[in-house]
Amino acid sequence: MHRLTRRTFTKSAVVATASFALDSFSQTVPSQQQVGIAPIGLGSIAEVFMRSVGKSENAKLTGLVTGHPVEKGKKFASMYGVADSSIYTYETFDSIRNNHGIDAVYVALPNSMHCEYTIRAAEAGKHVFCEKPMAISSNECKRMIDACRHAGVKLMIGYRLHHEPVFLKLHEMVRSGAFGEILQFQAGFYGMKNKQEWRLNRALAGGGSMFDLGIYALNTIRWFTGEEPVDFRAVVATRDKTGKFTSVEETINCLLKFPSGILAECGSSYGQNGTNFLQINGTTGHVRVEPAFTYGDTVLKYEGKTESGDLAGSGAVYDPDQFVTEVTHFANCVLQNAEPATPGEEGLKDLLSVEEIYKAAGSSMA
Ligand code: NAD
Repeated sequence: MHRLTRRTFTKSAVVATASFALDSFSQTVPSQQQVGIAPIGLGSIAEVFMRSVGKSENAKLTGLVTGHPVEKGKKFASMYGVADSSIYTYETFDSIRNNHGIDAVYVALPNSMHCEYTIRAAEAGKHVFCEKPMAISSNECKRMIDACRHAGVKLMIGYRLHHEPVFLKLHEMVRSGAFGEILQFQAGFYGMKNKQEWRLNRALAGGGSMFDLGIYALNTIRWFTGEEPVDFRAVVATRDKTGKFTSVEETINCLLKFPSGILAECGSSYGQNGTNFLQINGTTGHVRVEPAFTYGDTVLKYEGKTESGDLAGSGAVYDPDQFVTEVTHFANCVLQNAEPATPGEEGLKDLLSVEEIYKAAGSSMA
């Protein structure tokens, strides 16, 4: 682990203040150390991650794992000051156990590879920050949790909205009854934002838009209700005729019921050119967030009403940057030996629901 300077320590206090609502993060400013992290798979989200690590005060990029060590490895190593000797391939990956500058890995691979690399990282004694969806089956999630527990390393799943001030504020309002008793959630995420081929291959992706986009709605609603759905109805549909969606669904709509009686209607689609939103209806108020789930230079906007009057607000995804707050939280959990806000169990619960959703739709998973 790496020491912080006085300048960086002061800045990390500012980051800590910005993430006011994160319990395990807001308690203490990180100790004067940095967690060394190596991303595995240097694709599109890994680039966002590397930029965020660069802005975080308690994390540092100390390794890179890539199938393209010369092209991508050397490029990012020179951008972020990673030693050439800390560039690994998938074949040499297990030798990171001997690299004491790497405390943790960030798994940013296609979904079906999350399980293998999480387990191999745990066996190498490294903490794991794994992207969503956690894996392509609940069985894989359980193996990942067991491996990390056995190795005594942290496992956090990349649910970035748990670090987003707009979502934290609305979560607190919902939980404190600001909208009365919640009766229904509606959420949707439409349009294929990232167009890599593996997303259309069930063996690599696990499923279609549900795994990539629908999971944002599902996870947010599970988080906001604090309950697990018990009744599942779902339909999958593919209208595309080009053969692009022979392996995974284009569109999925589902209706979930929670033990308290809350209903949730969720939809996601790769084919539909639509927006992304979250609508919450209670007995005395309501709120709609739109856009809700995209990142980049996006400004999240919400509008609604509570008993005390109209409600409206906004927040830019990058101000404060939800990805920076997320990695700072992960590093802090490593430094403080604290439980991440979204541990492996959170990813497992999503996959258990996803399996029920596909079952209800009469569609098999990978
Ligand atoms: P990507 O295709 O841009 O990157 C995947 C990386 O894996 C590439 O570097 C690729 O070279 C590598 N790879 C290794 N083996 C591969 C194989 N057999 N096939 C294809 N690629 C292979 O994908 P991405 O958009 O960065 O997504 C990676 C993960 O991150 C996914 O699990 C995705 O769900 C997740 N993700 C999360 C967010 C978020 O906001 N939290 C956003 C995008 C993606």
